[in-house]
Amino acid sequence: MIHRFTYALLALGTACAPAASPSASATPGRPSFVITNALVLDGTGSPGRRGAVRVEGDRIAAVGDVTPRAGERTIDARGLALAPGFIDTHSHADDDLFDKPDALAVVSQGITTIIGGQDGGSTLPLANYFARLEKTPAAINVGMYVGHGSIRDSVMGADFKRAATPAEVARMSVMLEGEMRAGAIGLSSGLEYDPGIYSDRAEVIALAKVVAPFGGRYISHIRSEDFAFWQAIDEIIGIGREAKLPVQISHTKLAMRSLWGRADSLVRLLDEARASGVDITADIYPYLYWHSTLTVLFPKRDFENRTAAEFALTETSTPGGLLLGRYEPNPAYAGKTVAEIAKLRGTDSVTTLIDLIRESEAMRKSTGRSTQSVIGTSMVEPDVEAIMRWPHTNLSTDGALNGPHPRGYGAFPRFLGVYVRDRKVMPLEEAVRHMTSLAAAHMGIKDRGRIAPGMFADLVLFDPATVSDRATPREPHLTSVGIARVWVNGAEVFADGKTTGAKPGRVIRRQN
Ligand SMILES: [Zn+2]
Repeated sequence: MIHRFTYALLALGTACAPAASPSASATPGRPSFVITNALVLDGTGSPGRRGAVRVEGDRIAAVGDVTPRAGERTIDARGLALAPGFIDTHSHADDDLFDKPDALAVVSQGITTIIGGQDGGSTLPLANYFARLEKTPAAINVGMYVGHGSIRDSVMGADFKRAATPAEVARMSVMLEGEMRAGAIGLSSGLEYDPGIYSDRAEVIALAKVVAPFGGRYISHIRSEDFAFWQAIDEIIGIGREAKLPVQISHTKLAMRSLWGRADSLVRLLDEARASGVDITADIYPYLYWHSTLTVLFPKRDFENRTAAEFALTETSTPGGLLLGRYEPNPAYAGKTVAEIAKLRGTDSVTTLIDLIRESEAMRKSTGRSTQSVIGTSMVEPDVEAIMRWPHTNLSTDGALNGPHPRGYGAFPRFLGVYVRDRKVMPLEEAVRHMTSLAAAHMGIKDRGRIAPGMFADLVLFDPATVSDRATPREPHLTSVGIARVWVNGAEVFADGKTTGAKPGRVIRRQN
């Protein structure tokens, strides 16, 4: 049954979306097509409705009771769900996008927009990156944060293991202003990583204050996700309060045994901060394990300290829960756990962890590049579900186009399959809101994330009954099932399990 709800959707639309005429006459020069017989999930959280969507050029032209014109191309959705293209607010796909512009890992999940420059790391200057991306576009839209760590590195170089001086903060501020003018969404930080870990709160607040007058935002891999978690939460709330800008916690997690079960306390703290005027939000990926470097297990960087190693192997994770993704000093260790490697080396797990870091740090120092990565199991399901359910948490992948963590290929389908369909963490239409309009709002993107006339035609057609991830830590590059077709700016980029070769992606500059 087809309902007439075009105008209801128009009424829901914000003033920011340019009005497009849902009239019956075609606009010359703008090829159109109609997706019929779809369950339209418009991204606002409203229940799905049977209907059709007309796309004209790069925009959605009409929604609801749409009758294809004579000769107009129609695509029969066969009752599948049609949602706004998913928006990934914490992605590392920007790293390899020029090598893999079809972005299979991304589009095969139904994601049409990624936000890069995360964890304090971005290419500089962004103006050059944007210009290159506009000259040689990718399949997906890309927005970027500017990385605190990258700016810090430019200004402080090798002498970074200390707080910045006022003169250095001033130089960072000038760079930051330039990046904001180029269209950065805001400032990202990675305060658990070098060099951000050596900054103090005052440095970050000073830089956040540079971003705020531009209408910019702050997003952070917070200073600790384990032993100093509550101080790290206090810090990001303080940054939002003092610099007066929206702040978002990246890949929110309670990654330590003694924190397990405390998600409700976290949500209460965040709600209190919001009630007191701090616009704090969060994103999360749907896994119990993270992907990072072995060194993050040692927040004091005391890699030879057996007590610290014991803490990492009992509180933060376990010897069987630390799976090496990459280990250049001995590539055969990739895909093995610390427990397995300890057995191979005929020693205990604590000694093994210390040795693995010593060997990889020596190689890092001689080569100047990162030489290892690890997938660490540190979280529990009740916390993941409670954080997901928070109305201000949107979904993210934290994934890369060619990374060892399965989230790069599977995060969004896994959320829809495991958490929404199987465990019923939230209704489907609400889940789609967390992946679309909520994510857009958190990034200040006004013309994407909803199916309504005038919005950009980023769309995903999927089967809620079968959508599932297949990627695992041992086979991280398996594409998901149940994602049928994906359009970016009105052009089809994924269909029948394959990318189409189209590269309609745009640069998304800060919108205000
Ligand atoms: Zn991170």
